[in-house]
Amino acid sequence: MSAPPTSSTVLSFEDARHVVEQQAALVLAGRVQGSETESVPLLAAPGRFLAEPVAADRDLPPFPRSTRDGYVVRSTDLSQLPATLEVIGEIKAGEHLDRIPTDVGSGQTASIMTGAPVPAGADAVVMVEYTSPRGKQVEITRSAVPGENIVPRGAEARSGMLLLDCGLRLTEAAIGLAASVGKSRLQVYKRPRVAVLTTGDEIVDVDATPGPTQIRNSNSYSLAAQILRAGGEPVLLPVAPDELQGLLGLIKEGLKSDLLLLTGGVSMGRYDLVEQALSELHAEFFFTGAKIQPGRPVVFGKCVASVPAREKPAGYFFGLPGNPVSTVVTFELFVRPMLEAVAGHSPSRLRFLHARLKKEILIKTGLTRFLPAILSGEFEKSEVELVAWQGSGDIAATARANCYIVIPSAREHMKAGEWVAVMMR
Ligand code: AMP
Ligand code: MG
Repeated sequence: MSAPPTSSTVLSFEDARHVVEQQAALVLAGRVQGSETESVPLLAAPGRFLAEPVAADRDLPPFPRSTRDGYVVRSTDLSQLPATLEVIGEIKAGEHLDRIPTDVGSGQTASIMTGAPVPAGADAVVMVEYTSPRGKQVEITRSAVPGENIVPRGAEARSGMLLLDCGLRLTEAAIGLAASVGKSRLQVYKRPRVAVLTTGDEIVDVDATPGPTQIRNSNSYSLAAQILRAGGEPVLLPVAPDELQGLLGLIKEGLKSDLLLLTGGVSMGRYDLVEQALSELHAEFFFTGAKIQPGRPVVFGKCVASVPAREKPAGYFFGLPGNPVSTVVTFELFVRPMLEAVAGHSPSRLRFLHARLKKEILIKTGLTRFLPAILSGEFEKSEVELVAWQGSGDIAATARANCYIVIPSAREHMKAGEWVAVMMR
């Protein structure tokens, strides 16, 4: 029997993240472009990653568009105020071309609605609020500069221009843009299959009645939710026992997926056998811990020996600590970029915002902390505070939280009112 990894490699948060990003880049570089993609209807595409370039099929907007309800004018007609102009027509949105004045002459105007085309001759739109109709004329009390309240034809995009590039995560705005250029289906990257293997003799499934010392499996479900949100397809394996042979069989099964996530069994306990099992399979360990809280025992590595030969970048695994908050946090910090790379697109950066701390924090140095917190407050006055928690097993506290306060490893005191980094969920 081979021993667990001989030297443990515990990295700083930054170094561990860097290692993951390096491996993600290797995976991306080794991929065959365009292989794992599928076409989906537009409404199935939100959150997926685009695998085709989307271009403008015509100028956007396709005509000079009024952004207001009001009157089209020649701005030079408004040098003396109030100005009285002759109304020669009404232009509504979608109006037939032959019902739109071909030219608006000096001294003339036409009423226009938001989204309607501005006719030739006019160079501005005056908002209806600054006008008073007088029979076939209108009195205007406000001047206008050329171009005011008009978006010129093609100002948003020229026909043929690239609007959405491969690898983009499809947000609501991107979906709307795709619709606006007539894409009812989109080519997206296939969801990578991510195996989830929970370990622990105390773990029972969600439908079982737990015995007095048993715990329901929550990690497989929180991970599955994160995998789905990150664009992957979770594959839940049966719970593995704290026993080497059973564990080995299920790890081999999990390595058939595009990525394997283990939870539990990576700490220092006598029955924490995950690293030992992976060593038996000749795994390479990139790190076996990170100086973070929660999630210090997190493991990242690659195991190619027992994976059937295939083109996919299989063999990567993470051993996530079993404590439920650690599992959730280490997924966000380390698994997500790898999942994105395996899915065929560039990993997204971690993004932090800053908010004022509501109550001081006293803490030991040495670990970068990602502590469950609540971001609240008024517009322009956001504030953030830790939720009371019982440590990294307290998923109830994390469910009450909406973000994490990030505390650099060198800090031991953060004062109330100080700006702190916040990582959103
Ligand atoms: P371990 O990392 O295996 O030492 O587990 C650390 C803690 O997390 C223990 O209290 C476990 O009972 C708990 N735990 C491990 N796996 C799960 C799971 N899938 N769902 C809920 N709690 C778990
Ligand atoms: Mg365990």
